[in-house]
Amino acid sequence: MQNVFLNQKDYHYPPSPFVTGLKCFVCGNQFEYGNIQTCPKCGIEGILDVQYDYDSIKKLLTAASLQTRKFNHWRYKELLPIPQEIQLPHLHVGWTPVYNVPRLASHLGIKKIFIKDDGRNPTNSFKDRASSIGVLKAIEFGFDTIACASTGNAASSLAGLSAAVGLQSYIFVPQRAPEPKITQLLVFGATVLKVQGTYENAFDLCREACEQFGWYNRNSGTNPFLVEGKKTAGLEIAEQCADDMPDWVVVSVGDGCTIGGIGKGLQEMKRLGFIDRVPRLLGVQAEGAKAMVNAFMSGTDLVPTDTNTIADSIAVGTPRNWRRAIEQIKQSHGEMITVSDDEILEAMKTTARLGGVFGEPAGVTAAAGLKRALEKKIILPDESALVMVTGNGLKDIQSAKQAVGDPISLSPTLEALTSILASRKLK
Ligand SMILES: *Cc1c(COP(=O)(O)O)cnc(C)c1O
Repeated sequence: MQNVFLNQKDYHYPPSPFVTGLKCFVCGNQFEYGNIQTCPKCGIEGILDVQYDYDSIKKLLTAASLQTRKFNHWRYKELLPIPQEIQLPHLHVGWTPVYNVPRLASHLGIKKIFIKDDGRNPTNSFKDRASSIGVLKAIEFGFDTIACASTGNAASSLAGLSAAVGLQSYIFVPQRAPEPKITQLLVFGATVLKVQGTYENAFDLCREACEQFGWYNRNSGTNPFLVEGKKTAGLEIAEQCADDMPDWVVVSVGDGCTIGGIGKGLQEMKRLGFIDRVPRLLGVQAEGAKAMVNAFMSGTDLVPTDTNTIADSIAVGTPRNWRRAIEQIKQSHGEMITVSDDEILEAMKTTARLGGVFGEPAGVTAAAGLKRALEKKIILPDESALVMVTGNGLKDIQSAKQAVGDPISLSPTLEALTSILASRKLK
């Protein structure tokens, strides 16, 4: 085995003074802060949760101090597991806009809908929140190379953030990752390894490769630090919506890190006194990839399933962070629900046409879930909901085309135009 700390000489950052340790979701044991991925006792099942000294954080992270800070997700640096003095990537991550979209609300029959558009991140998905932490952990722990397995967005995100900070990246993608995402990471200069198999195969190969070659593993399903980056969306929702906190926050679910992270962020903002109520979480999976919904409904341990959905970013048969996700959903008195691919495609159109935001299939799955939850009376018409749009629609043009069909083709004359408009009753 090669030396894990290739750049040991650069390993001079004092760790965050606010992190007190890492606690296992399975056995409850607490471990010292350091370069670990999962619980040494419980193995891959033993996802670790970063613990903080909230009393110290409360003194520094206040409404007054936040007022002076930049509008990106580093404004919550005390709540992030990073050396406080480390050089931050220059790309703008986080503080994505929250829009009030009344036309979409009245279409779906609910009092108020907010959309938080995370497609506005530097590589156009929510994953930038996690990757931005991932590259800093690699630097902090002295690696010059980082790797991940991804259904697509984590990959392009890691490639982009690695390019920004000057790390080498190796990316393992499954067979069915959409072309635009693969292209995006090639452009950023990553070494792209297309694994002939599923996401699970890519995940396992990446883990073995990291051990073998001494690369830092950015796998967000299991890495305890990355989910802390995903948490910042919850921190932001608390700050951005403080005066008008939605009753529900609706999130699409793959591995479960996104919803688990958002839940943790919201809980922390309550603990620090920024909000007095945590919204209920609605977790949404595709019917063709609903292992987590099954576990949530049955109350038993997660049983892996096959996957079959156009929402590639949440086509996860073995969600790794299911305990965290389900715990956060339950703590918030939330729910889980599934939606079909047709409902996802429909939501892609309505979210764009009535909300002005174009999301990829997994990006609008939450919007489809909101509609279904209203039909099932899980969410009521006099409530309000924030829909997380987790990825930009241009990430997966193939699926978008399925939703909208072709443009009208015509010869360049006014005559042709007039006759087409008349025949289609457009005028
Ligand atoms: C990864 C991803 C999700 C799901 O996040 P998990 O942490 O895997 O639950 C949702 N939407 C998009 C666009 C994603 O890339």
